[in-house]
Amino acid sequence: MSSTLKDSYGRAIRDLRVSLTDRCNFRCFYCLPHGEPPIAPKEQMLSYEEIEYVCDVFVSLGIQKIRLTGGEPMMRRDIETIIGKLSLLKPKGLQDLALTTNGYFLPDRARSLKAAGLDRITISVDSLKPETFKQMTGVDVLDRVLAGIAAAKQAGLEPIKINAVIVRGHNEDEVADFAAFAREHDVGMRFIEFMPLDSGHDWSRADVVSGREIRERIDEKFPLVPMDVARGSETSSRFRFADGAPGEIGIIAPVTEPFCGACSRIRLTADGIRGVDGTGRISKEPGAGEFAVFVDRVNFDDCVPAAFEDSLNLTADRASRVLLCAKHRQTKNCGKQNSESGCPP
Ligand code: SF4
Repeated sequence: MSSTLKDSYGRAIRDLRVSLTDRCNFRCFYCLPHGEPPIAPKEQMLSYEEIEYVCDVFVSLGIQKIRLTGGEPMMRRDIETIIGKLSLLKPKGLQDLALTTNGYFLPDRARSLKAAGLDRITISVDSLKPETFKQMTGVDVLDRVLAGIAAAKQAGLEPIKINAVIVRGHNEDEVADFAAFAREHDVGMRFIEFMPLDSGHDWSRADVVSGREIRERIDEKFPLVPMDVARGSETSSRFRFADGAPGEIGIIAPVTEPFCGACSRIRLTADGIRGVDGTGRISKEPGAGEFAVFVDRVNFDDCVPAAFEDSLNLTADRASRVLLCAKHRQTKNCGKQNSESGCPP
């Protein structure tokens, strides 16, 4: 099994996002406008053995980075076990094992994540003001999340990135404060334009604070210099502070500056069967004992699905539910920019 995954544009697929669960202990208004996520029954979640197995196959096909996501991935009690298993893939070609979290569990568990083999961490923090944080996330736990960032730093889960979704009328007045936080704590602060998600919330272009405005708001207080790094498949434009202060700024602008042309990602959903839009659409019903691949957008080399099937050794009842969703992560979110970005319609 030596093929490299490529999509229909010939782009090599190097990054795999693995959703460990749909569950979350936060209720961010832009993610869960109706309060509750569509949660797959527990028995349908992929077990850690299945996740390990699928990731092993993926690494053999050229995946170099794995990021664990959710929901909130730390809602899974076996996350340290999963990380421990996946870290064993490093001699096989895995170069980077990362986690995106809301930070709530980090004060108690940052060290155990590091000990299990996690390389680095991204923490979502949408406001540094307790009231705004509560209003945006539905929970009054800013202090705990900030303690989580400190714990991650202490545990050596670096470089630490902080993600903030900037939404007009909520937190655009905090952009410079976030930049000050990056300088003070030597972290990479990443600002994300508010974009349409799959959760059915009322997105409006009027709520979008553009990447350009974000940069201008920071520049006014802390002049920025673009970093001389190849962007590659990275989603963010990166900047350092002109005065040499520590920390870094990243701006992710999927609405005003589509970046999908260099996309190298695929995603595995928590139950392994649903499409990325959560509608349950699948392209092919898996037969018993067969490992089916969601090929709607990704053009696997002919030999690759066969390689999956040949090497699958799951019992029929489990295998019938293990369907890999290998669709462009951004395809749905950036529909309006398809012609510019090169993403399929
Ligand atoms: S923390 Fe993340 S997964 Fe949880 S509600 Fe907020 S955006 Fe959604």
